[in-house]
Amino acid sequence: MATVNDNYLKLKAGYLFPEIARRVTAFTEANPDAPVIKLGIGDVTEPLPQACRDAMIAAVNDMGDRDSFKGYGPEQGYLWLREAIAANDFKARGCDIDASEIFVSDGAKCDSGNILDIFGHDNTIAVTDPVYPVYVDTNVMAGNTGDADDSGKYGGLTYIPISADNDFMAAIPDTKVDLIYLCFPNNPTGATATKEQLQAWVDYARANGSIIFFDAAYEAFITDDSIPHSIFEIEGARDCAIEFRSFSKNAGFTGTRCAFTVVPKGLMGKAADGSDVELWKLWNRRQCTKFNGVSYVVQRGAEAVYSEAGQAQIKELIAFYLENAAIVREQLTAAGMEVFGGVNAPYVWVKAPAGLTSWDFFDKLLHNCNVVGTPGSGFGAAGEGYFRISAFNSRENVVEAMKRITDKFSV
Ligand SMILES: *Cc1c(COP(=O)(O)O)cnc(C)c1O
Repeated sequence: MATVNDNYLKLKAGYLFPEIARRVTAFTEANPDAPVIKLGIGDVTEPLPQACRDAMIAAVNDMGDRDSFKGYGPEQGYLWLREAIAANDFKARGCDIDASEIFVSDGAKCDSGNILDIFGHDNTIAVTDPVYPVYVDTNVMAGNTGDADDSGKYGGLTYIPISADNDFMAAIPDTKVDLIYLCFPNNPTGATATKEQLQAWVDYARANGSIIFFDAAYEAFITDDSIPHSIFEIEGARDCAIEFRSFSKNAGFTGTRCAFTVVPKGLMGKAADGSDVELWKLWNRRQCTKFNGVSYVVQRGAEAVYSEAGQAQIKELIAFYLENAAIVREQLTAAGMEVFGGVNAPYVWVKAPAGLTSWDFFDKLLHNCNVVGTPGSGFGAAGEGYFRISAFNSRENVVEAMKRITDKFSV
């Protein structure tokens, strides 16, 4: 019989979202009339911007005409999209990033997992705790970890706690790690990193020959002008960082699929024979071999995000979600709870009322208020005692959910 990748067997079975679904189903089966409001999973709810739809419809029509029909596109993405990205997301912010360093893909989730293809298995790896589970699970699948312990931590990974105790600042490790995953604005805590904090990480990475994987999927939610949107706003980052970006959260592309990864030319890793190897070359080779690009239609939709109309429409979308987040912050604070995040991010990170674990709080909110959120402990051991409320929902649902909590859950 064919053998399997045993690393998959190390993955913790009780994954967060299935367990939430199980509890919600059990509740709704017992209470079929309960008007449950879900503020849990991090998916957008509002429709695609008009500018993106118009561009995609025009692109579909291009495909219907022999003269403008497109077959396989470049594996790295069409140059017009890569140039729009380089100009608007990087050069406009003073970042020295060229279109050739941008690789268009069908998701930041896949890229943040696939990137491990070009790295060795002997690297030491650091993640924050709590963390976006993809970073951890893809390392488990790749065989970069040991088994999980009772708290769900995998052997061989360095976990950097982020909580109210350290103002959600990831402390620089006092040992050397080769690969570091940072996500700011952060999912799940909604925390951001200042220029000074990111500079300290870049300085550490350069001193230790480490690579930072910087996930900036939520950069569009930054409202505070002093907070960097890209790691490449930090001096020296070209020598130590790869950045993941996505159209999922800024333009509602979660179901449309388009993202990109930035790999600076000249960024190096080490080969077994001790020689330096350019990571750009390996990633380019990886994409050309295993990926055939994002559809022409979708890339035209993504390009429209950078049009004048597109920019105005995504600003409105983001402002809408941030207003939801502000309502959540206000109302939960009024209910006596301690809240974090939700100002430069679509997530509000709530301290569970005294004495309640994350799952206790989940059950109470579900049963007393018929509101579903995400237990912080599902994102890592240091998330215990916290709870994530997502701002991705209709205004009506957010207002109603918060009313139920303030009415029935005052602490
Ligand atoms: C939503 C999200 C992404 C985006 O992933 P896509 O595959 O591009 O939809 C990336 N990173 C984090 C932390 C996210 O929450």
